[in-house]
Amino acid sequence: VKKEGGGNIVSLSKANHVALSRKAMIEKRLIEALHHKDLSVMYQPQVDLKSGKIDAVEALVRWEDAVLGTVSPSDLIPIAEETGMIHDIGTFMLEKACEQAATWAKQGKPMKVSVNSSIREFRDKNMVKKIRQVLEKFDCPAHLLQIEITEKFALEAESEQSIIRQMLQLQTDGVTFVLDDFGTGYASFRYMQLLPITELKIDQSFISSITKQEKLQKLVEGIIQFGKSMEIRVLAEGVETKEQQDLLTKLGCDAIQGYYVSHPVPASEIEKL
Ligand code: C2E
Ligand code: CA
Ligand code: CA
Ligand code: CA
Repeated sequence: VKKEGGGNIVSLSKANHVALSRKAMIEKRLIEALHHKDLSVMYQPQVDLKSGKIDAVEALVRWEDAVLGTVSPSDLIPIAEETGMIHDIGTFMLEKACEQAATWAKQGKPMKVSVNSSIREFRDKNMVKKIRQVLEKFDCPAHLLQIEITEKFALEAESEQSIIRQMLQLQTDGVTFVLDDFGTGYASFRYMQLLPITELKIDQSFISSITKQEKLQKLVEGIIQFGKSMEIRVLAEGVETKEQQDLLTKLGCDAIQGYYVSHPVPASEIEKL
């Protein structure tokens, strides 16, 4: 190592140290936050392109910590997965989502609510029991609950019988499964056949340049056709402009989600929409 390089090495390790201690801080503060149920939920609407109506919302976790400030899910979730706190976050989100779905249903405005699930949650043998208990606790019809699993989750689940079994049990109850981040590199025809998936969400990375790139357009068209042939609903996420919405409508996409319709908002705002 050259002497001149020393400074760089020192600052690198400093940066590492700062990153590490932020992670440790997140861990520590998250235990408190979960204890006090200090997390919150924002809902992002999904619009059915045929009816033009909002027929589902995705529940997204939000955390505003007194010390750390806003901690984004992309920082929070990987740490929660690593430490096992994802189980508590999952339970918290599930309870909020089912309570909200039940409230809307009782107001005569039934709407599906989607929650994001990590595979670690499904490795818990009590996952099905937990979900059934939460549905019952809030008197929430099972068909209003959707569970979003990523392609990566699906690929791992392919070889885990107990996860497939749990998903099938929940499907029998009426719970539906959505394949999230579709196209990000883990698509498999095998899990498409094994898992009870009723909708796929085209990842936002495909949508952002769709109006500018002919190839992307063809690719998305292909995914939509694939969905149709499998009788799976296709939703495009990350839709930010009218041009994108119009193009997706033309390509036969079933539903969209994204800033063009609405950012994630509190439940009360959904009612106004
Ligand atoms: P995701 O499930 O793919 O969720 C969509 C993300 O895209 C959300 O970010 C949302 O706010 C953002 N988004 C929505 N519309 C647009 C748009 O038009 N343009 C752009 N650029 N972004 C848009 P968020 O809330 O920061 O969540 C990030 C990821 O964290 C989620 O990606 C999901 O994987 C994970 N996550 C969030 N909440 C939970 C949770 O409760 N449990 C678990 N396991 N994961 C969660
Ligand atoms: Ca999602
Ligand atoms: Ca996604
Ligand atoms: Ca994502």
